Amino acid sequence: EAKEKGKNQFAFYKPELTQRAEYQFQVEKYLREAIEKRQLSLVYQPQVNISTGKITGVEALSRWHHPELGQVPPAEFIAIAEKIGMIKKLTEWVLMTACRQALAWRERGFADLRIAINIPPSQLAEEDFVPAIKNIIGETGISSSDLELEVTENIVQTGQENLSVIKDLKARGILFAIDDFGTGYSSLASLKHLEVDCLKIDNNFINGMLEDNDILAIVEFMIEFGKKLGYEVIAEGVESVEQLDTLKKLGCETVQGYLFSEPVSGDEIDKLLTQKKVGLK
Ligand code: C2E
Ligand code: MG
Ligand code: MG
Ligand code: MG
Repeated sequence: EAKEKGKNQFAFYKPELTQRAEYQFQVEKYLREAIEKRQLSLVYQPQVNISTGKITGVEALSRWHHPELGQVPPAEFIAIAEKIGMIKKLTEWVLMTACRQALAWRERGFADLRIAINIPPSQLAEEDFVPAIKNIIGETGISSSDLELEVTENIVQTGQENLSVIKDLKARGILFAIDDFGTGYSSLASLKHLEVDCLKIDNNFINGMLEDNDILAIVEFMIEFGKKLGYEVIAEGVESVEQLDTLKKLGCETVQGYLFSEPVSGDEIDKLLTQKKVGLK
């Protein structure tokens, strides 16, 4: 019997589609219980001021470790969470966990440290999103100007409500960043309606800019554009000193990437903050 020959053998007899459907079903089932089973965690990646070398903020990134599946990439499980209607719960967990960590840092004397949190477009439009944010700020006691919400430029398309939610939260002092800037579908004109504080240039541009002059021109444009509109510009995915030098020359303000630090635990961030500077010489 195939079943008795162990898992791999058994799988061999199954049509691929059935296997995949079963895997999908398992992952969905596991994800539903991931928060209760404490399998989710947050790591934090420093955002570094290019001229002072100081950490000005950290981006919170979710990690899911399942005993059988191992580490599941966030791009994968965030999409599944959307699909199975769990994204709201997950986003609230991220917000609460990250804000508690931010408060802990503040209590240890690390002031002016911004915490950036990824918010899926679907969540901004939820009618209780603004109350939820207010609640989290009230409960954790972090100051609203330490909180930055990262949204993709596609939210311009997803409706007028999103823009008014941003306005509302901005009026309360919360910061907004456009994530993965340059990869979405918004026109430059529509970006004008998005009143944000920060533009994050997507990894792929930084990754390609030294090999391709056209990409370099795009990066140059994005930095100029962001600065002219009064946004802070953050370059994501900075991995080399050459990239750093180029960004410095182009007038980019803030950098984030493996050159300084991978996303690390809250305790590791403590250590980096104590050293005050990361990676920059
Ligand atoms: P993102 O928000 O654009 O996050 C940046 C991604 O680039 C992270 O991948 C980070 O680990 C990676 N990265 C940072 N520096 C470098 C570098 O120097 N080189 C390279 N190659 N990569 C770098 P990660 O953690 O796998 O997250 C992927 C995406 O998943 C995120 O992209 C974000 O869209 C989403 N995500 C992660 N955590 C959350 C979350 O808590 N909530 C939501 N809604 N989305 C999340
Ligand atoms: Mg992000
Ligand atoms: Mg990004
Ligand atoms: Mg990205």
